[in-house]
Amino acid sequence: MYDVVVVGCGPAGAMAVKRCAELGLKVLGLEKYPLPRHKPCAGVLYPRVLEDFNIDEKTVASQVIGVKIVAPNETYATVEFPEPGAVVYRKKFDYTLVKKAVKAGGIVSDNSKVLAVHQSKNICRVLLENKIIEAKYVIAADGVYSIVARSTGKPWSKENLAITIQAYLKVSPKDKKTIGKYFEVHYNASTTPGGWTWIAEREKDIVVGLGYPLKYLKTGKELKEKLQAFIEKRFEEKQIIKLETYMLPITGPKNPEDLTVGNIVFTGDAGGFIRSDTGEGIYYAMHSGLAAAETIHEAINTKTLLKETYLAKIEDHGLKHLYQQTELKTILLDNNKIEKYVKKLQKLSKRFK
Ligand SMILES: Cc1cc2nc3c(=O)[nH]c(=O)nc-3n(C[C@H](O)[C@H](O)[C@H](O)COP(=O)(O)OP(=O)(O)OC[C@H]3O[C@@H](n4cnc5c(N)ncnc54)[C@H](O)[C@@H]3O)c2cc1C
Repeated sequence: MYDVVVVGCGPAGAMAVKRCAELGLKVLGLEKYPLPRHKPCAGVLYPRVLEDFNIDEKTVASQVIGVKIVAPNETYATVEFPEPGAVVYRKKFDYTLVKKAVKAGGIVSDNSKVLAVHQSKNICRVLLENKIIEAKYVIAADGVYSIVARSTGKPWSKENLAITIQAYLKVSPKDKKTIGKYFEVHYNASTTPGGWTWIAEREKDIVVGLGYPLKYLKTGKELKEKLQAFIEKRFEEKQIIKLETYMLPITGPKNPEDLTVGNIVFTGDAGGFIRSDTGEGIYYAMHSGLAAAETIHEAINTKTLLKETYLAKIEDHGLKHLYQQTELKTILLDNNKIEKYVKKLQKLSKRFK
């Protein structure tokens, strides 16, 4: 029997496998797709990710020197980072995390789709197509559509989700220059109520996407139309290579009582560890994976209670603030307020220059 089975091997799962192995736990990571696998994402890493984790340079698609926040009336504020962040290719980035987890002594099995997780008498049974794997604990790191959450009867509901659409684009060098290595974020309550539109530059292409709470989506085709209208206005010469849609949880982490269910611990998007005002999730997924592994290690070795220990670890890893509403989040349905916010940012960014 394994000490821990980790379901899903994105940033949360890979970090969980790695830390479990480092702590001497017998751990197995299960990933449904063949690795390396693609994940719809802009891949923007704020400098905090590079400060806390060792990022492999080969996964970096571009540097990012700050954020440019654009209001509906096209006024904007630029916030420079003290140190550059990065835009990464998620396929490469996530795979290097998995390789580090394996190097640390974890076992990872790809092409291993989990169908359900059941618990009885302190044993977790993880169901795959042709076998059942037993573990003392399960870490749910299987993303926004989490099968583990569905198994426990608590998947994300429409109220918790934002719908996104993202395009991969080729633009002319002249158009690319207008981005200037800033992560561009546009807020507009008319087109993306409660959400945002983003642009990130990569070495050979750019990604442009938008997202807003699913509850505001009126028709299936409006997403594509809105994105195309934005791209049309923003870039002169462009070619859309690929479009994709995906969900993300945007109401913050699960309630503390739902973050663990029996011997299951929820991390990353499966646990809601994502900033609800910007959709930034990679950093929080990585830290929540570490926190979950450390929690289980303590529960096994010192018989501490899982729920209380996880909440304490979440705090230690600086994730507790994700429960609080930010000023930005509260203004995203009102263009006047967004414009005032950008004005305030302009003043602040000048003062700190
Ligand atoms: C369009 C878009 C743009 C984004 N841009 C950014 C950004 O620029 N910066 C940022 O920080 N965040 C961004 N995010 C958020 C970020 O992508 C997520 O927060 C992050 O990937 C969460 O990591 P995770 O490990 O929890 O989940 P995931 O990365 O989704 O990994 C979950 C893994 O579980 C696997 N899995 C799922 N079901 C099963 C199963 N049944 N059995 C086995 N394995 C399973 C999946 O295949 C996947 O590999 C963006 C999200 C979207 C949708």
